[in-house]
Amino acid sequence: MAGQPPPGSIRTRFAPSPTGALHLGNVRVAVFNWLFARRHEGQFILRVEDTDVERHRGEAEASIAADLKWLGLNWDEGPDTGGPCGPYRQSEAQELHREAVDRLQRKGAAYPCFCNEEELAQDRIVDESGGEVHRYPGRCRDLPAEGRAELRAERGSPAVRFRTPDDPVEILDEVRGPIHFNTDDIGDFILLRRDGRPTYNLAVVVDDIRMHISHVIRGAGHLSNTPKQVLLFQALGAPVPSFIHLPTVLAPEGGKLSKRSGASAVGELRAEGYHPHAVVNYVSLLGWSPPDDEEEVFAPEELARLVDVSRIGASDTTYDPDKLRWMSAQHIARMELDEVVGAVSDRVDRARFPLEGDTLRFAVDALRSRLSTFGEINEHLELLFPTPGAEWDAAREELRQDPKAREVLREVRDRLRDVEQWTPDELGRTVRAVGKELGARGPSLFHPVRLALTSQRSGPDLGKVLAALGPEEAIVRMNRALESSKL
Ligand code: GLU
Repeated sequence: MAGQPPPGSIRTRFAPSPTGALHLGNVRVAVFNWLFARRHEGQFILRVEDTDVERHRGEAEASIAADLKWLGLNWDEGPDTGGPCGPYRQSEAQELHREAVDRLQRKGAAYPCFCNEEELAQDRIVDESGGEVHRYPGRCRDLPAEGRAELRAERGSPAVRFRTPDDPVEILDEVRGPIHFNTDDIGDFILLRRDGRPTYNLAVVVDDIRMHISHVIRGAGHLSNTPKQVLLFQALGAPVPSFIHLPTVLAPEGGKLSKRSGASAVGELRAEGYHPHAVVNYVSLLGWSPPDDEEEVFAPEELARLVDVSRIGASDTTYDPDKLRWMSAQHIARMELDEVVGAVSDRVDRARFPLEGDTLRFAVDALRSRLSTFGEINEHLELLFPTPGAEWDAAREELRQDPKAREVLREVRDRLRDVEQWTPDELGRTVRAVGKELGARGPSLFHPVRLALTSQRSGPDLGKVLAALGPEEAIVRMNRALESSKL
C-alpha cells in the first residue's frame, strides 16, 4: 500500500492510556522508545490507547502531547500528526479490531463464549478453592453449531475468546533472553467483550501489526501479557516484534513507582522549572547504564547515540528525586547564559526584584551556578536583594567593628561613580584597584564591600553582583552602609 513503511524499518511506539497526566514512570517508556527510534533512524509513533477511557480523554491526550513536546520527544506519526498507519487513537480503530477477531474466528483460532457472569464467578470460586490460578475452563470451546445458535437466541451477543493452543509459548525478551510460558496458565482469554469492545491484548496486537511496530519497548509489568500477544501475532500471521521490557522502577520509599507512590508528574517538574533534558537524561538511567561509569550527563542526541539494549538491566531500579534535581543543575550549567536568562525571565518576581535587560542578565550570570531548577531563581535573587532585618543589623555591626571599613567603602563608592563600562570584569577590576591602593587585601577589602551590598560576607562573584545592581542601586547601598553604621 502506498505510504506504508518499507520492510525492515525500525518503528517503536509509545502507547499511553489517557487516564491522567504523565509521570516519570510513563515518561521513561516514552524516552526509551524515542531514543531507540532515533538511534536507528526509525520512526517513533504516538498511539493513544483510549478504548477503556471514557472521561476526559481529550484533555488527558492534550496534556500527554504537551508533556512530550516539552521533553523534546517529537513523534513521527500520531493522532494529530497523522501518518500512513492511522487511526492513531485506539478508540477509532475498533472496526479493525473486530475484523481481526472475525478472521480468527473463521480460522477456528477464536470462538464465541456465551457464559454469563454467574457461571464465570462460579468458575473463579472453584479455582480459588483449589488454590489454582483462575482460567476459563473452556465450556464454550467446542460447542456444536446448533448449540451456539440456541445460546445466541437465548443469551444474546457472546464474548469472543482466543483458543489458546496447548504447546508452551516462548517469548524472546531482548533484556532477559527467552522465557517460556505454560499455556495452561494462560487459558482461553477474551478478545471481544459481549458489548463488542475489544480487550487490551487484542487491540494492542492489531494496532502493533497495522502500525508495523518492529520493537515493543515497555515496562516489565507487561511481561505477563506478552505470551498472549505473541500467540495473537502468530495466529494473525504477522511477524512477532522484538520485545524489550524495561526493569521495574521502585518508589524512593519502596513499592512500585506510580502516580500514587512518589512519581512526580511531568507537568509538576515543568512548573518547577526542571531542565527538560535532565528529565530525559535521568529516566534513561533508570534501567540503562552508560558505557563509561564516570560520565552520565548527556544531551538527548548524545543519549540517542549511546543507548544500547545490551546495557539495559533486568533488576529493579529506584527513583531518586535528589539525583533528578542534581541532573537538572548539570544541564542548566551546560546552557549558554542567554538561554538561562530566557528560561528564568518570566519567573522573576519583578515586584521584589527590579531587573530587566542588562541587570537581569548580570544577576542571572551571578546566580546561575546555584540553580538546580529555573524556579529557584527568586530564592537566589534574595542574595542580591536581601530584605532588611536581623542579617542587615548583624552586617552593620560587623562593619562598625572593622576599623578599615569606612575608608574602603568610601573609596570604592567614589570609584564606582567613575566606572564607564558597567560590566562584571570592569567592576571587579575597580574594586581590586582600590584594595591595592589602600593596602586592603582579601577579606579586609571584600568583606566590607559585600556586607554593604548584600549583608553577607561571601556570595556570588562581586563584579557580577555590582553589575546586576546597576550603578544607582550599588551607590545607594554603599551610602546606606556608611550612614546607618555611622562609619
Ligand atoms: N496502554 C498500555 C499502558 O499504558 C501500553 C501497553 C503496551 O505498551 O503494550 O500500559
